[in-house]
Amino acid sequence: MKKLFTLTSFLLIIISAIPSFAQWSEQNHAERFEQLGPMLRSPNVYRTASGAPGHMYWQQKADHEIEVELNDDNQSIKGWQKVTYYNNSPDPLKYLWIQLDQNERAKDSNTPKIAESTINPRMSLRQLESILWHDLDLGYKIHSVKDMSGKDISVTIVQTMMRVDLPQPLMPGQSTEFTVDWSFNIHDRMSFIGGRPGYEFFPKDGNYLYTMAEWFPRMAVYSDFEGWQHKQFVGRGEFALTFGDYKVKITVPADHMVGATGVLQNPNEVLSSTELQRWEQAKKTYDKPVIIRTQVEAERLEKQKARDKKTWVFHAENVRDFAWTSSRKFIWDAMAVKQGGKDVMAMSYYAKEGNPLWEQYSTRVVAHTIKSYSARTFDYPYPVAISVEATNGMEYPMICFNYGRPDEDGTYSDAIKYGMISVIIHEVGHNFFPMIVNSDERQWSWMDEGLNTFMQYLAEQEWDRNYPSRRGPAHKIAPYMASEKHLLEPIMTNSENIIQFGPNAYAKPATALNILRETIMGRELFDYAYKEYAERWMFKHPTPDDFFRTMEDASGIDLDWFWRGWFFGAEPVDISLEAVNWYKLDNRTPAQKKADEKKAADKEAYHISMDYNKKDIPQSVVEADPATRDFYNSYNPFTVTPEDEKAYNDFMASLNPKEKELLNSGLNFYELKFRNVGGLVMPLIIQFNYTDGTSEVERIPAEIWRLNEWEVSKVFAKKKEVSNIVLDPLRETADIDESNNYWPRQFVPSRFELFKGAGGVRGAARGDNPMKRARTGR
Ligand SMILES: [Zn+2]
Repeated sequence: MKKLFTLTSFLLIIISAIPSFAQWSEQNHAERFEQLGPMLRSPNVYRTASGAPGHMYWQQKADHEIEVELNDDNQSIKGWQKVTYYNNSPDPLKYLWIQLDQNERAKDSNTPKIAESTINPRMSLRQLESILWHDLDLGYKIHSVKDMSGKDISVTIVQTMMRVDLPQPLMPGQSTEFTVDWSFNIHDRMSFIGGRPGYEFFPKDGNYLYTMAEWFPRMAVYSDFEGWQHKQFVGRGEFALTFGDYKVKITVPADHMVGATGVLQNPNEVLSSTELQRWEQAKKTYDKPVIIRTQVEAERLEKQKARDKKTWVFHAENVRDFAWTSSRKFIWDAMAVKQGGKDVMAMSYYAKEGNPLWEQYSTRVVAHTIKSYSARTFDYPYPVAISVEATNGMEYPMICFNYGRPDEDGTYSDAIKYGMISVIIHEVGHNFFPMIVNSDERQWSWMDEGLNTFMQYLAEQEWDRNYPSRRGPAHKIAPYMASEKHLLEPIMTNSENIIQFGPNAYAKPATALNILRETIMGRELFDYAYKEYAERWMFKHPTPDDFFRTMEDASGIDLDWFWRGWFFGAEPVDISLEAVNWYKLDNRTPAQKKADEKKAADKEAYHISMDYNKKDIPQSVVEADPATRDFYNSYNPFTVTPEDEKAYNDFMASLNPKEKELLNSGLNFYELKFRNVGGLVMPLIIQFNYTDGTSEVERIPAEIWRLNEWEVSKVFAKKKEVSNIVLDPLRETADIDESNNYWPRQFVPSRFELFKGAGGVRGAARGDNPMKRARTGR
């Protein structure tokens, strides 16, 4: 075959060639396809090179018994807890670290100090309040830390962390017990202080709704990969928490409804007989939620405001945290969901302000989420899954606080409805990442937010095929990837240092996973590897390396280039289809060839003077001496010579039948040249549209860029003639400039607004996507 191309001279038909294929100045060979190697942690006996827990994997455990009392008169809480801490590590521990997250709002907190502030011509009161130093009595009061004989243990409080100096080092394999007495004032989370937990006050009926999270001193994580995780809590970077079992007694006003992590142990003592009956009914109802405390009943309690108290008892096993909610405003509904051979209770707690939306959707969305996520990871292992209406979104084991409240008249926009469904899917979904696949959120937001946002997208599309998902499809991340360079960071950036938090920690990793699934790995391999990661790290502490390694290990696909580009890099995708050259094989006889050459020469020789000369030079002059003219013109380069004939005949005789067939195949050769403008290498997905109206897509793996990361060319042989070519026709690669994806080039119009005079209302008519304005979860 090679002979054909070397012996035969091609007839070059250049249909389109953008001149000078620019010589790219960047250094090549660069590193885009080098293995991650030293960028990952060395594998060891705790974590293997395949991304699985090693044969000596260990993790700590912390069990809790907690008694807590809520004071609804002054919105404060006091608690006592006994912690049993198991040292499963191979290391003796002289001290333990405990997280005091409430101290984020204490007077000595760094949170307001390290928040940048500026004065703007127009400022909201809330913005101003956040600048003024607040003097509220918030943060923990730690009354005592004692050993089991009642002796004080020395502690050192370092803002949001507390070091407990053990009387004797805690040796490997041993456990220790201690108690902590504490209290704090609950803050108004609807005020400028904000935050995940706190209370909301409803002035119309004078009642409070408490969402209690980060409420008890929690053990920090001690691990093989980080030692003690005691990076301070300053508000954004979430939590690293130790698994354990919980027994919690919660004392609240007698008419409050309490929802919490775990299973209620004493329903007979805290529920009315009617409620108990409905609760038993809900346990057997799989098709729709059963309302256990109705809106009418809740509204009656709102007015009566009981003065006596009740204690609710909850037990939870193998959870990394415990959260609860309490209010006399709560309506409560529940239904059973069959999951992995057992029943899970999907439930919702919401005030009347959440209706009619909450009654209709919340518990059904909880049930849907459990099913959708379980199918892609592992069967939801907990006995309950709860959604609470709390105007914002935040996740805890088995319980989450969610957004989505209709207007006061009970009407709501699509933005509110879909915002609510999305946030519930998202927060319930967090049960899987990071509540069970327990990554360190303080270090890596993407490990839970990115994975969870990806799963949320899939669950949304399963809820409704036309669901208006905000994040997931590749093209939706392009505007972020096209940001100015100083606003972009790798996904592998610590949570506290991320500039554009939503796009970087949620949308980009979710999109990257979706691209892996749809384009790079394919659904079958991706789904298998993803499930493998979830199963390997269920109820354990994974690191980014464990994820990267498992996805390769289980799929057999080298993804180092992908992790480099999408997770360790900040470059965007912009691949340009720079030029297309069209060639045909030359199978003409010498006579045909000479005739074509003459035609071409005649055409080429013609110039403007010949045009003018037609009328300016008299015929008498031109025809003056035909004999002389013919003498000089006797040489004709377009005559077929005997040598031409011989060369042609020899060549044809040298071809075997297969080679002859190829020569006469009439194939079109399209030589495509691509330029990597954005920097992030991706596969070439090329759609050839033929003149007969049909089309075909060719997929070239990203590795085509491995020898030259800036420009590559590739030849495609086609029987049909191509009318035009489109790069990435299904918008799979997040290409930030699609105008250079077409051959011939297509003009993609940009719109600009016209406004009249200096007083025009700029932007007033701009189409604003209401989904973008919806407050979403964390
Ligand atoms: Zn989240």
